[in-house]
Amino acid sequence: MIPFRADLHCHSTFSDGTDSPEQLILLAAELGLRGLSITDHDTIAFYEKENFQRQKSLFLLPGVEFSAMSRREPVHILAYGFSIDSESIKALCVRHQQRRHERNQRILKNLHNIGINLDLHDITHSLQGSWGRPHIAHELIKKGYVSSIQEAFELYLGEGKTAYDPGESVSVEETIEAIHQGRGKAVLAHPHLIKRSTTIRFLLELPFDGIECYYAKMAPMHEKKWLDIAHKKNWIITGGSDYHGKTKPYSELGSSWVGQETFDLLYNHFKSHSL
Ligand code: AMP
Ligand code: ZN
Ligand code: FE
Ligand code: FE
Repeated sequence: MIPFRADLHCHSTFSDGTDSPEQLILLAAELGLRGLSITDHDTIAFYEKENFQRQKSLFLLPGVEFSAMSRREPVHILAYGFSIDSESIKALCVRHQQRRHERNQRILKNLHNIGINLDLHDITHSLQGSWGRPHIAHELIKKGYVSSIQEAFELYLGEGKTAYDPGESVSVEETIEAIHQGRGKAVLAHPHLIKRSTTIRFLLELPFDGIECYYAKMAPMHEKKWLDIAHKKNWIITGGSDYHGKTKPYSELGSSWVGQETFDLLYNHFKSHSL
């Protein structure tokens, strides 16, 4: 029998992934995954729209990846098993959509100021859910200004580059609070990507429920540090591929995962208040 595996981190066309949620579910089932959480950036629109609990091929756990800032450093927070009709989660998503809209417009204005004119409508006309720098990067490729997403970030969109704008910041503390109010579990995403050790130390004192220790193709030697911290704090150890489809071809769906015990813990928690 194939062991139970669940990928708890991936993105769909509701944010910056290139596969629709339906395609993700099909692909996951084909790969033999038994559980999945689609964790789009700052939106739960897919879960609000679909009758997602009627999946036959696998168990789908509601998830979302929230953007936050800790002393001007970006931090991503995964939420799992929240109540879909939670007012606090909904309000946080609305605030992020507003934040993103204003920030994206400022980025387009910054590009305009250096002679690069992109049309807002060209970028957004077929989108649903959240959009941001990866979508602007695609448009820069389409219009021939750069040849890759990487180049778009290196030249224009990355932190500190000419068109960069940090956007309004939402704190980690208020994000965790909104997740808890919505009965979700708050998980610190890809902690190894956080640059400053002072930020890490600060975050480790916050009331997270879990930490993402298994991530894409992170080397096992790097996992150990985070696993030790999780054990010490008695936090849930999560994992996922951060699959984005064609946007980030190096990370395949299912390349990181959790086993049945962790998945059941989160899924049973969700069921205990939502089904
Ligand atoms: P945003 O949410 O608009 O700030 O965009 C952040 C997203 O852009 C991240 O979740 C990544 O998927 C992507 N991203 C950030 N930095 C890079 C980079 N250097 N190259 C490619 N994609 C990136
Ligand atoms: Zn992304
Ligand atoms: Fe992330
Ligand atoms: Fe992600």
